[in-house]
Amino acid sequence: MKVSVVKETAPGERRVALVPEAVVKLRAAGLDVLVESGAGEGAWLTDDAYAEAGASIVSRADALAADAVLMVSRPDARTVAALRPGQALIGLLSPLTDPDLVRSLADAGVVAVSIDMIPRTLPRAQPMDALSSQANIAGYKAALVGAAEFGRFFPLLITAAGTARPAKVLVLGVGVAGLQAIGTARRLGAIVSAYDVRPETRTEAESVGATFIELSTVGPAAGEGGYARALTDDERLAQQQELTGHIARHDVIITTAQVPGRRPPLLVTEDALKAMTAGSVIVDMGASTLGGNVTGSVPGQTIVTEHGVTIIGASGLPSSMSPAASAMYARNVSALLMYLIKDGELALDLSDELQAGVVITSGGAVVHPALRPSQPSPREQPLRDQQSPETEPDEGAVRE
Ligand code: NAD
Repeated sequence: MKVSVVKETAPGERRVALVPEAVVKLRAAGLDVLVESGAGEGAWLTDDAYAEAGASIVSRADALAADAVLMVSRPDARTVAALRPGQALIGLLSPLTDPDLVRSLADAGVVAVSIDMIPRTLPRAQPMDALSSQANIAGYKAALVGAAEFGRFFPLLITAAGTARPAKVLVLGVGVAGLQAIGTARRLGAIVSAYDVRPETRTEAESVGATFIELSTVGPAAGEGGYARALTDDERLAQQQELTGHIARHDVIITTAQVPGRRPPLLVTEDALKAMTAGSVIVDMGASTLGGNVTGSVPGQTIVTEHGVTIIGASGLPSSMSPAASAMYARNVSALLMYLIKDGELALDLSDELQAGVVITSGGAVVHPALRPSQPSPREQPLRDQQSPETEPDEGAVRE
């Protein structure tokens, strides 16, 4: 079986789906590995390094002709057009946010495998959990980005020129990324507080050194599968209002809140921004084209409000650490690939919970229950039908 890695086409994407170490392992498992020339450039990996690991360096056309094509981000239209029926495509396809891509992959007859749809609570899925591996990187980098932008120190510093008090950091959203952001900010010496709507996050946040903030106006909001549920309008307003006071007391805010199938909840409102001290910094990991956790954040951009608060639209953090992110992703995608292969061939079995979770199209059809048009759910609502984040900050949108 031929497995290939193509150069990513998404703007700003520097990660690559396999690193040489992963090539060695796949070769040992009996697979032929093809790597598009230059595929590893963004992660500082040369064609020679892949060749030494046993890969064949090929053109993009040859890579796209393999039995299974591995990617990190979504393929562009030209890439999809080059695929053929029966071929497998594995990547972080974000199918919930891109129904047109799902349709085009189905029309192409491709076996599309979206690693971000993996049922993360299944023990056997742990080595394949690319959402977690990339979120860990993003959380770590978010703390560093916040520290770099902040004009004062994170740690307590006592010097002959005076004493600097430690920065007060608030992490909103204590999932995988939030926990890593807390730990990293703590290691830099900051005093860290954290907040989440899922009650179990209190002990998790405290275990990595944060003080947990409990809101009196919003009750627990755990949803399915370990995720949060979307808040009601009343809960959302109460949360925003009560958070404002906490936000104003902190120097650096890192927001990571997400609800699967929804636009990221708006946690830092205009009022909260106005209440913050000039020189404060916000790193919005939820920043997306639909709006993020922070009013006015723009993905990929740093803006400074008229009150002197810097808002960093921190999308693409894993890509900014492409060597580490690629190495982790390569382990995840290799583990998933090996899980899908039997006797040297792709062996689909949609009665298997893990496979049913990740396979989104096969045999010319959309096969994933959450994506089938016959079963509408908030998760499958197309982006173009979403309302403006300013008017409806938390309703019916789909997470990017
Ligand atoms: P996520 O990216 O979906 O969301 C980040 C955090 O935002 C979550 O903790 C969520 O509760 C929080 N959030 C959502 N709405 C909020 C709001 N209005 N206000 C404040 N916080 C809000 O989360 P994730 O990092 O992908 O992790 C989600 C869950 O999956 C966690 O329970 C995690 O432990 C679990 N998980 C389990 C496994 C496993 O079982 N092995 C692996 C990975 C993750």
